[in-house]
Amino acid sequence: MVKFSEEAKSLHASDIREILKVTENPEIISFAGGLPAPELFPIDEMMKVDVEILKKEGRQAVQYSTTEGYVPLRKQIAKRMKTSFHTDCTYEDIIITAGSQQGLSLLGQLFLNEGDIVLVESPTYMGATTAFAVNFPQFVEVETDDKGMVPEALEAAIEKYGDRVRLMYVIPEFQNPTGITWPLERRQAIMDIMNKHDIPIIEDDPYGELRYEGETMPTLKSLDTQGNVIFLGSFSKIFMPGLRIGWMVAAHDILEKAVMLKQTVDLQTSSFAQRQASYYIDMYDLDAHVKQIRDLYGKRRTLMYDSMKKYFPEGVSFTYPEGGLFTWVTLPEGLDAKAMMPEVIEKKVAYVPGGAFYPNGGNANHFRLNYSNMPEDRIVEGIKRLAEVLKEKIGK
Ligand code: PMP
Repeated sequence: MVKFSEEAKSLHASDIREILKVTENPEIISFAGGLPAPELFPIDEMMKVDVEILKKEGRQAVQYSTTEGYVPLRKQIAKRMKTSFHTDCTYEDIIITAGSQQGLSLLGQLFLNEGDIVLVESPTYMGATTAFAVNFPQFVEVETDDKGMVPEALEAAIEKYGDRVRLMYVIPEFQNPTGITWPLERRQAIMDIMNKHDIPIIEDDPYGELRYEGETMPTLKSLDTQGNVIFLGSFSKIFMPGLRIGWMVAAHDILEKAVMLKQTVDLQTSSFAQRQASYYIDMYDLDAHVKQIRDLYGKRRTLMYDSMKKYFPEGVSFTYPEGGLFTWVTLPEGLDAKAMMPEVIEKKVAYVPGGAFYPNGGNANHFRLNYSNMPEDRIVEGIKRLAEVLKEKIGK
């Protein structure tokens, strides 16, 4: 038997991965993953993009390159940070990562030692907590209401744990898993607290451009007076997740360390994939493409919400997301969404049980639903099937 490191021993298959295996069966109506709608991927355009890349700079496109990333793409992102996220930066404040997931992994390694505290929303994105977990930190779940992290609870946590707090991780925009967005006052209140401390803050924002209604909010990064916010962005949800292109905007001392660490992981993000994103932006209209995505997902969001209102029994509540990919369902206390999975799968529908999004466990009476990946008729049918299981459980 080989002997694994403590880090390797700490790795376990996630609930989502296990469920996604089941949902590969095309008969299953899956609300489980966070997959974009494949019918919107601009495949014809990409054929032209690829030919253009190979004609214009084929040799550089398949050559090794810098760890920081392809400069024209970093310049395009700096521009989008201004237009889409109202955040000022230059290309030198940005590095390209292999998806924002790599950003999470790098930052966990840069800031966390065993026993250090990470403050997170409760619930939070499990891909982040599993990325951080290999450094053996302690997760402190800060109370979170329908407007995001609660400032008084944050202040109390910082007071209680003092210097042990080494990182805060939040998703203020269309949160995964809840779909909740922090209003401006909440962002300001949280940043008023954080600007008094020297704690790095990861603002994870892969969904920011997918707003279906309401006004764009300022990022935490734009409210940061200390240079402690590290913004993570991604092309996964607005373009193509398989290209694995994300970005990190941060202070230069943080970027420098992130670059050195990234060199040990993958040397650089794919030269070709970076050009695919960059050339697409040059040759086509990414904003028009994002608008198409917003139109479709906004319609699906509304349809799922209306269907839940119509079919779910009393006692079940759910969020109304203004954007993003997910809604969050809360069952009456005592019900266990994970234990219900076999019956749900039996009806050929799937969700992600909510417990996985609480790093310290508990909270079994929730599940997450995705509405971006299923066509409209399957959304309605899937919600009807879920409603049948819920009615049996609740006894109505
Ligand atoms: N952060 C959040 C909140 C996410 O939901 C996801 C994807 N589901 C990621 C990061 C990772 O995205 P990617 O690596 O594809 O950019």
